[in-house]
Amino acid sequence: MDYKKIIQEIHEEVMPFRGDGNVASYIPELEKIQPDQFGMYLKCLGGADYEIGASQTKFSIQSISKVFSTTMAYELLGEALWEFVGVEPSGDPFNSIMQLEYEDGKPRNPMINAGAFVISDILYSRLDNPKEDLLKFVRIIAGEEDIHPNAAVIASEKSTGYRNASLANFIKSFGRIENDINDLLDFYYFQCSIEMTCRQLAHAFQIFANHGKLPGDNVQFLTSSQIKRMNALMQTCGFYDESGDYTFKVGIPGKSGVGGGIAALFPQEYSVAVWSPRLNTKGNSVMGIKALELLTTKTGLSIF
Ligand code: GLN
Repeated sequence: MDYKKIIQEIHEEVMPFRGDGNVASYIPELEKIQPDQFGMYLKCLGGADYEIGASQTKFSIQSISKVFSTTMAYELLGEALWEFVGVEPSGDPFNSIMQLEYEDGKPRNPMINAGAFVISDILYSRLDNPKEDLLKFVRIIAGEEDIHPNAAVIASEKSTGYRNASLANFIKSFGRIENDINDLLDFYYFQCSIEMTCRQLAHAFQIFANHGKLPGDNVQFLTSSQIKRMNALMQTCGFYDESGDYTFKVGIPGKSGVGGGIAALFPQEYSVAVWSPRLNTKGNSVMGIKALELLTTKTGLSIF
């Protein structure tokens, strides 16, 4: 497979979409990002890497962090995790509150904000140093130490996060959150504000492409069967109410964030991260989705 040529073609073919969409303005700090950037990093499990554009520029991983926090909670609780949060696509926006009322406050899945608060609550209750432990885990699987939260983004989200505060309070009213809401939101915003490059994200997502191991390393994260389930969750819920459309067009598991990043993988073959800050109305990167659609089309490889 000539990935080098494919990545170059993708770069050219996404350029016409450069002005489409908008950066996430509801988090004021994210609005400051220069919007017309694009980067892509593809990591073959065999060892070869291919990159183009701003592949080594740091950006806010935002909801991509939900994959990391869920992995940690799954490691801690095993299958009991699914008593706290479901595994069904919501078909609603990432910050929707509606289903919680008629579903007894149990979030549909861990890839939407409601689910992420329950996951954060589990980690916050069970880990001695939740922030440090999460960061440590991300650094290990990303294979780099130079990964940090962004204090300005945390402050920005806190100052405008009325919707998140209501969601978390609503879930707590059903007795499904143990911790103080301010502590919980502080931890949640910490994880969302972590900044990574496409290279670091592609490195980290190798564990989902490789049955829970980084290539050449014997440390096992989750079991093979649990990794399958994480991939299934990403595929069915990773793009909120665009998950079906994403699956239809792209056909590999992935997770987006409102920072404009998407991390995805083709099992046993590669992991990939793309970044471009302009989002569509569902909160997913316009050029990011286009690039992944071109990748699976040009390679002829998808899980379907
Ligand atoms: N921190 C963001 C929020 O809570 C994450 C949302 C996202 O990336 N979809 O709104």
